[in-house]
Amino acid sequence: MIASPAMVPAAVRDLVDTEVAAAAKRVDEDGVHPAAVLACLGQEGAFRSHVEDGKPPALDVAIATTAAISEACLTTGFCTWCQHSAGWLVANSDNAGLRAGLLPGIANGAVPAGVGLANPVKAMRGTEQFKLRAERVRGGYLVSGAQPWISNMGEGHWFATVFADLADPSHRITAMVRCGQSGVTIRPNVHMTSLRGSATVTVLFKQAFVPAEHILADPAESLLSRAYPGIVLLQTGMALGVIGAGIALMREFDAGQFESNRHLPRHPDDFAADRDALQERIVRLTETPLDDSPGYLRSVFETRLQASELTLAATRMAMLRAGLPAFMQGSPVDRRMREGNFVATITPSMRFLLRALATSPETPWPI
Ligand SMILES: Cc1cc2nc3c(=O)[nH]c(=O)nc-3n(C[C@H](O)[C@H](O)[C@H](O)COP(=O)(O)OP(=O)(O)OC[C@H]3O[C@@H](n4cnc5c(N)ncnc54)[C@H](O)[C@@H]3O)c2cc1C
Repeated sequence: MIASPAMVPAAVRDLVDTEVAAAAKRVDEDGVHPAAVLACLGQEGAFRSHVEDGKPPALDVAIATTAAISEACLTTGFCTWCQHSAGWLVANSDNAGLRAGLLPGIANGAVPAGVGLANPVKAMRGTEQFKLRAERVRGGYLVSGAQPWISNMGEGHWFATVFADLADPSHRITAMVRCGQSGVTIRPNVHMTSLRGSATVTVLFKQAFVPAEHILADPAESLLSRAYPGIVLLQTGMALGVIGAGIALMREFDAGQFESNRHLPRHPDDFAADRDALQERIVRLTETPLDDSPGYLRSVFETRLQASELTLAATRMAMLRAGLPAFMQGSPVDRRMREGNFVATITPSMRFLLRALATSPETPWPI
């Protein structure tokens, strides 16, 4: 069970209880990227779960770890998701060189990493244009454009993204890119109200040469249809963490204000039961993470949607049980409400999921 603390390495649990929880306020309010804590989490195995040699991918462990970290601080949990997602894409690519050369560093946290997938995923669904365009040249591609909103980034960090071929926009390529490589620069993002410590940047590409050695898949679709469900499932760890934090806050406020709260329509135990049911669904889906059938993606999208709905309901109920403290600067309830909104917004957002499920009932993502 994901809720079982036994699934998360003991050293990671210790770090969550001490370092991650202690830094949460500074990370959230002052926008401090928890780089040192993430490096320690990596050393203790927080990002390693699905890249152990010879073992089947263990997404449930990665989700459990992300949940434990997110319960203390969603920003750190989100950076964990960034790291896991980059690792998951590399681990599942056919590029043996990247698997041997880059993956170990991502898996032990020495190489901070992330993914710039929001624009490509929305472009493939036809709601945006590709922001990165590539020209095929000898030995690779020259890429230009700007990819906004990529998190867990800094000089020397790596991220996975997708670009469209200038000569044939239906041809897409996915690759690993290093911030600071020739032609790739980062620009700080707008001042955000939440997730300030997530090191979220815009990455500018100016005729950047992406060598064939860094390509994860060309064309991109074969890898994305296989690996994208896992990336979406990994996000449920963020949801489970924030739901857990919301339930803890509900209990805390009920202890002092039971008479005021007892007639509210739902109670912490109700949310805990919903969370258990959600976890069961997630665990079942993690058993076949590389299933590339439309039916599987549909179930993953439905579960991801349910996770967002429950996260919003739990953080809202924590706010209703708190009353005024929810509106005080620096209050934990205020942070959890903002974190809950993020879970529902990060791609695939609720509006993306609802549109995909409504407009393509058989194949929510026909790539
Ligand atoms: C804190 C944070 C971190 C993120 N990290 C990542 C990440 O690591 N990887 C990733 O792939 N995606 C990341 N995203 C992007 C995120 O996935 C999507 O923005 C989100 O899903 C919402 O997408 P959307 O389709 O609702 O529209 P949005 O992408 O939110 O766009 C909504 C509208 O806002 C406009 N817009 C976009 N940027 C700006 C701006 N700077 N100023 C004014 N208007 C703007 C758009 O053109 C559009 O019309 C991050 C977002 C946030 C808020």
